[in-house]
Amino acid sequence: MAQSVKIKEIKHLTHDVLKIVLEKPKGLNFTPGQAVDFAINDPKWEKEWRSFTFTSLPEDNDIEFNIKTYPTRNGVTNELLSKKVGDEILIGDVYGDIAYKGEGIYIAGGAGYTPFAAILKDLQKKGKLGNNKFIFANKTVSDIALKEEFENLLGKNFINVLSDEKVEGYEYGFVTAEIIKKQIENHKYFYLCGPPPMMDAVGKHLTSLGIKDEFIVKEGF
Ligand SMILES: Cc1cc2nc3c(=O)[nH]c(=O)nc-3n(C[C@H](O)[C@H](O)[C@H](O)COP(=O)(O)OP(=O)(O)OC[C@H]3O[C@@H](n4cnc5c(N)ncnc54)[C@H](O)[C@@H]3O)c2cc1C
Repeated sequence: MAQSVKIKEIKHLTHDVLKIVLEKPKGLNFTPGQAVDFAINDPKWEKEWRSFTFTSLPEDNDIEFNIKTYPTRNGVTNELLSKKVGDEILIGDVYGDIAYKGEGIYIAGGAGYTPFAAILKDLQKKGKLGNNKFIFANKTVSDIALKEEFENLLGKNFINVLSDEKVEGYEYGFVTAEIIKKQIENHKYFYLCGPPPMMDAVGKHLTSLGIKDEFIVKEGF
């Protein structure tokens, strides 16, 4: 059953991504990479359930989300832009297909980074970051959420691909098979999350590189 919890912190991480910290519902359990059903607890919005991924870890005292907002859609994420500390959110069932299987290459577009933020933070805490790599696709530098955090976490294993801006040291364009191939060493698993068109394109690149479906862990946003 859904539980209502209060917003403890709400702020912009980038021009369109909100970080929202909530009280942790009693008995809530999840694994890094999983998402939960989420609704705004007021009469106009309480039936509008959306999925958001935990960016906090299961053992943390609060739960945290990074939410990309779409003001033009007049949906839940636009409504969240006017929420304040103390406002209430309904948290429902936990689910999700993304979980850590072994060392690999993570590929995300836009808000698709959220399951990987949790998984990589968890691996760091356990001293098991190893040679995991993260290829992050965005339009411009100003769209890269948690840029410093990922840089500090992964160093040269954090690879940025920008479609709308040329920046030294960053790949330019969409994620290609060539960009992925350059990063593959002994990586067995490929983790993929983002908007469906990006997932389709990158899924085809992985197949063209000879990666079998059983080694691709993915979820569309
Ligand atoms: C398992 C899972 C985990 C997720 N985790 C996260 C996360 O951690 N962070 C995150 O930011 N997102 C995440 N998402 C995506 C997130 O759920 C959606 O972005 C969010 O539901 C959008 O809600 P919304 O109400 O603002 O807009 P929508 O529900 O997408 O749209 C509201 C209305 O706008 C119109 N509309 C829909 N699509 C478009 C479009 N492309 N252009 C114009 N108008 C449109 C329609 O009329 C629609 O009813 C996740 C999704 C899944 C499936």
